[in-house]
Amino acid sequence: MIDLFESKITGTQVAYYIVCKRKLWLFSHHIEMESFSDSVLIGKLISEESFKREKFKEISIGDTLKIDFLKVDNEIIVHEVKKSKKLEESHIWQVKYYIYRLKNLGLNCFRGVIHYPKIFKKLNVEYEETDTIKIEQALLKIKEIINQEKPPEVINKPYCRKCAYFELCYI
Ligand code: SF4
Repeated sequence: MIDLFESKITGTQVAYYIVCKRKLWLFSHHIEMESFSDSVLIGKLISEESFKREKFKEISIGDTLKIDFLKVDNEIIVHEVKKSKKLEESHIWQVKYYIYRLKNLGLNCFRGVIHYPKIFKKLNVEYEETDTIKIEQALLKIKEIINQEKPPEVINKPYCRKCAYFELCYI
């Protein structure tokens, strides 16, 4: 079971943990550059403009989770909308983290769908039994990274160029 610190971790932090530990640290220390990034802005617009008819859209859970939309029938299905598939692994773990949190609240949720409206694709996400331990290990590591005095080193990946923190990392 997660503690109070871990329950304050957002889906964005889980995604950043997968993409780049430095990005996670910078974001978690309130150095937020996203508002200056065209790429982030486009992503937000796509999310806002897609699936407008969904009943349960932009669902907040506590102070930390904001899910693009939920479908509720015999079970709850988490839906996230993303701009591109490039960082797919981080999208999958963000969705799995939402499922994990909903499951911890006692809700019947085991599946998610990631939508990529720009390329007319979607990806089904199944929560597996072993995911709980993986997520809890990741939450501990996230806690460790955030508590470091200094940010981790830059990672020199091709996607750094599109990152909102690019200038900050490479000046
Ligand atoms: S520019 Fe690269 S190293 Fe810097 S935060 Fe972004 S992904 Fe990480």
